[in-house]
Amino acid sequence: MKTEIERCGSTDRIDFLPRALIYIERAQSSKLKSPAVLRAKITKSPDQGGQRVRNSLKNYGLGLVAVAVAVLLRWVLDPLMGDTLPLVTLFGAVAAAVWVGGYRVAIPVALIGYGACHYLFIAPRGTFDITDVTNVVGLIAYLFTCSLIIVFGEIARVGKTRVTQQREVFRVTLRSIGDAVLTTDTEGRITYINEVAESLTGWSHKDALGRPLERVFQILNEVTRKPVENPATRALRDGVVVGLANHTVLIKKDGNECPIDDSAAPIRDEQGYVSGCVLIFRDVSAQRLIERDKANQLLTARLLASIVETSNDAIISKSLDGIIQSWNAGAERVFGFTAEEAVGRHISLVIPPERLAEEDQIIAKLRAGQRVEHFETERVRSDGQRIMVSLTISPIKDAAGNVTGASKIVRDVTARRRTERERQNFVTVVENSTDFIGMCDLQGLPFFINRAGLEMIGLDDLEEARNTPIQEFFFPEDQGMIMNEFFPAILANGHGEVEVRFRHFKTGEPRWMAYKVLTLTNAANEPVGFATVSQDVTERKQLADDLRRLAADLAETDRRKNEFLATLAHELRNPLAPMSNMLEVVKQAGDDAEVLKQAHDTIERQLGQMVRLVDDLLDLNRITYDRLELRRSEVELSSVVQQAVEVARPLIDAAGHDLIIDLPDEPVYLNADRARLAQVFGNLLNNSSKYTRPNGRISLSAKRVDDEVVLTVKDNGAGIPQDKLDRIFDMFMQVDLTAERSQGGLGIGLTLVKRLVEMHAGSIEARSAGEGEGSEFIVRLPVITKPSGAAQTGPAAEPSPQRRILIVDDNRDAADSLAMLMEITGNTTYVAHDGIEAIEEIEKHRPEVVLLDIGLPGLTGHEVCRRVRQQPWGKNIVMIALTGWGQEDDRRKSEEAGFNGHLVKPVDYDKLLELLSSLTNGERVHK
Ligand code: ADP
Repeated sequence: MKTEIERCGSTDRIDFLPRALIYIERAQSSKLKSPAVLRAKITKSPDQGGQRVRNSLKNYGLGLVAVAVAVLLRWVLDPLMGDTLPLVTLFGAVAAAVWVGGYRVAIPVALIGYGACHYLFIAPRGTFDITDVTNVVGLIAYLFTCSLIIVFGEIARVGKTRVTQQREVFRVTLRSIGDAVLTTDTEGRITYINEVAESLTGWSHKDALGRPLERVFQILNEVTRKPVENPATRALRDGVVVGLANHTVLIKKDGNECPIDDSAAPIRDEQGYVSGCVLIFRDVSAQRLIERDKANQLLTARLLASIVETSNDAIISKSLDGIIQSWNAGAERVFGFTAEEAVGRHISLVIPPERLAEEDQIIAKLRAGQRVEHFETERVRSDGQRIMVSLTISPIKDAAGNVTGASKIVRDVTARRRTERERQNFVTVVENSTDFIGMCDLQGLPFFINRAGLEMIGLDDLEEARNTPIQEFFFPEDQGMIMNEFFPAILANGHGEVEVRFRHFKTGEPRWMAYKVLTLTNAANEPVGFATVSQDVTERKQLADDLRRLAADLAETDRRKNEFLATLAHELRNPLAPMSNMLEVVKQAGDDAEVLKQAHDTIERQLGQMVRLVDDLLDLNRITYDRLELRRSEVELSSVVQQAVEVARPLIDAAGHDLIIDLPDEPVYLNADRARLAQVFGNLLNNSSKYTRPNGRISLSAKRVDDEVVLTVKDNGAGIPQDKLDRIFDMFMQVDLTAERSQGGLGIGLTLVKRLVEMHAGSIEARSAGEGEGSEFIVRLPVITKPSGAAQTGPAAEPSPQRRILIVDDNRDAADSLAMLMEITGNTTYVAHDGIEAIEEIEKHRPEVVLLDIGLPGLTGHEVCRRVRQQPWGKNIVMIALTGWGQEDDRRKSEEAGFNGHLVKPVDYDKLLELLSSLTNGERVHK
């Protein structure tokens, strides 16, 4: 069978060869064997020499066989031919020898054949005689003919060898190249299929040959999935080379697909007519993958580029020496420099001077191939503004892995930092708030409670809070209301408030809270939890309770005050009746000394009672306004007790009580106001006397206990009911108003006593076994161990010298009665009733002593004193202020005005005498 390759010797070979060579080159690039190698494979096999010798011997053998056959054939034909044409059969042998072995075999065959035929068939037979002319001519003709046969035979033989060689080259080439090759005849039937085409189509050489091309080579458009015109069909139809088609897939015999590139070219015969077609195709799966890969890479690169351009972050690349290489739009926004301004400049463009060292550290890390991640620092904008940024810097490496630069992603975190700071501030506020701030989910599980909140309910930390449902914050009796009424109402209204108690988890104590709750909602405005900012109102509640109590107390005090006023009126009136009675008695009595004495005693007792009442009232006023002042000095206890007993003596004696005084043997010294302390014990003794039936027993005992002296005033009198004991020191407190009223008193004595004892840093307590069981008042006072000097033991009664005294008071009775008193004690007195008159009287009489009221019409006592002191004759006059005001401030004012002394009305006669005697040397004493 003649193959398409054999036809390539003519014009179609001209078409096909260049294309074939292209594929040979492809095969070469595909690392297949080169044509030279292929040819070498064909022509230079390893046993080439031996083969050739064997072939030559074989050829010569065949030549000899041909000669023998030719001679034998002539010999057989000899009877018929005789001497004619003796060499005729040799021409065939020569032609055969030249075809098989070439001229090298043909020439010996021609010569040997001639020799044999000449001897056997040329007359004279049996000899090699060529002397006969006919035979010579015959020999020449024979040689000529043989030469022609040998020449043409050799030419034909060389041509055939070449074709065979060429054919082998193409056969090997087509088998070796990576491309699949198919050839068809003009009918489009497969005439050749190489191994690659076999494997790509799935059709074996055997099955494919003779089949229509469309059966074996089915192709589709890869994208449209529609059949594609077979390029071979077009090449056959139009006689043109059909180029590579894109996106073609070959459907294999087993139905699998394979992307291919294909092309087809017509094969033409000697006359230029299309005699077939060659179709060349190859599997481009790998190429497609590479292309897809490249396309993906391109896409990725574009994507990255667009990300870089649209990124809000600044993305910068720089060389290792810090020169900016690229600068995206984000960088322009963050730093304020345009790309033109920044690219080519050093990165220090945006680094604050004091942070330049940071860049060196960053570069050092990059050189070591390390990344710098989320490095927060400060950078500077083109307008000089500082911004906080977070840097992520990665090294850029070349193909060899050397670090050549860096890519920087810079995020402006100024706003984030600010937000963080604001958030932190908010957290600080929440954390430092004294309110309870908390949040919980809809199930009532807390997820946040501030510190104050945790403390309020006694939870240690948030973790503990997270495991404590808020229901447990409340007392069991409140839980139902909170969970079933309050929270559902919050969900309905969005907020709500209730005053409820929180339970302290550790102590169990209640805390009243103004519990304000609101719902937390999500973006869709659906409730997701609850939040509370609640205040501890325990104190407020306490205050309200206190206020209520206070109001009740005030009402009680008011009631007592009214009672007090009634009592006061009664108590003031009480002495008046006996006094006016006795005055009448004095008028009527004439010279009856006994009656006069009795009247005098009664008046003195009743007056003393009234003075005590008024004194107590004044002290009460001072206590109320906290104006009570102590005039302390070192005093000896027994002298104080003595003074107190003197005060109480008249009452005690009148009631016939038995008074027992028991003091320590050693003197006890106190830093005290003698008069006030005497007032304390005088008051206690008076009370004992008042509230004990006549002929009772009263004792006053004192003993040292450590640094204190404990004084006990005890009686066997009325006693005090248990329920009144703790309020016995309250103002206006009297145990039994009706029964005791006759005893005289305003219910303020013990209040004063307690206050005075406390002012001396002491304490007082009342004890009684109950009504009728007697009472006991225990006073504790601190003592001083070592007196600095001799303690005052009380006023020494000295005989008073006779003086000229001016008494100034706008109350004429007061002035005149005092003048009478002074006259009785042997003094000469003058009286004035206002300031001007006072000055005139002083100037006129030049008295030694002036007892001067302060609140005077015209000029005040202070003014009078000042004017007198300005006169040369006024400097040595003893001026004593007589006033109802006895505060320290009042004493200071009178001293400033120039007074030598200050006495409080009503004037105690003994005190006045004491003062006058102490002023013999003109010294100033303010009492
Ligand atoms: P009063 O001026 O009423 O005596 P006090 O403040 O001195 O005022 O005393 C208050 C009340 O205490 C008295 O009214 C009396 O009921 C009771 N009290 C005080 N001392 C005694 C005592 N020694 N024995 C019984 N009751 C006393």
